[in-house]
Amino acid sequence: MISALVLKNVHVSYNGKAAIQGIDLTVEPGNILGIIGPNGAGKSTLLKAVLNLVAIDKGNIELFGKTLEENRKRIAYVPQRSQFDWDFPIHVLDTVLMGTYPKVGVFKRPKKKEKELAYECLEKVGMEHFCNRQIGELSGGQQQRVFLARALAQNADLFFLDEPFVGIDMVSEETIISLLKDLRDQGKTVVVVHHDLSKANEYFDELLLLNKKMIHAGKPGEVLRPEIMLKAYERELSFLHEVGVN
Ligand code: ADP
Ligand code: MG
Repeated sequence: MISALVLKNVHVSYNGKAAIQGIDLTVEPGNILGIIGPNGAGKSTLLKAVLNLVAIDKGNIELFGKTLEENRKRIAYVPQRSQFDWDFPIHVLDTVLMGTYPKVGVFKRPKKKEKELAYECLEKVGMEHFCNRQIGELSGGQQQRVFLARALAQNADLFFLDEPFVGIDMVSEETIISLLKDLRDQGKTVVVVHHDLSKANEYFDELLLLNKKMIHAGKPGEVLRPEIMLKAYERELSFLHEVGVN
């Protein structure tokens, strides 16, 4: 079986300052991987490296045994919500239709079939009644569901989501995690950057704990142990101690 994602000794820096160092990771198809770690640990950078949105200094990345370019259509990415320009005037249905572009080609207009697919994907996330709304008018959770619908419309095999649960309501969170689990059960692979540790055990099949370097990777039960977590969150804990919280 070909692994969905393999990273070997991946290094990324910004202006000479290391953001991630020596990351080795293998994700097999049919898994949900959670990438956890403190603020600034390099979680988003890791996704961006895989998606070729930042250059790697060193190392090797393969998706389904190939480069990203050979696989573009099989890969869906839902960026952090804070990175999107919410004033950009675009309707919900058009946002989702963008997910069908890899199939229709950028220069062809989407036809009835693509519109039906986009509508079906909006139904899956419970947002079909918002088709004609501007994306900027929606709540955080609704926006996140629309972006997931766009990823679904792409019919990808490997999904990357950066902090999908930040600032969203519980119904949206439950809708999204249940859809991600459906994708996993269909044999698709899902990689989620996440920083709230409370649900990590429930949501993910595998965890990667990151703090610039890879601290630990494995089953949640193995990673979410105090002696392992301390290695990544040491600075936070001593800070809490200093300010007298602990
Ligand atoms: P996380 O997603 O875990 O919070 P990031 O990957 O966003 O962490 O950032 C890792 C480190 O790289 C942080 O120190 C951050 O300030 C820095 N960084 C991220 N993006 C840039 C950038 N575009 N230019 C310079 N530094 C960056
Ligand atoms: Mg981030």
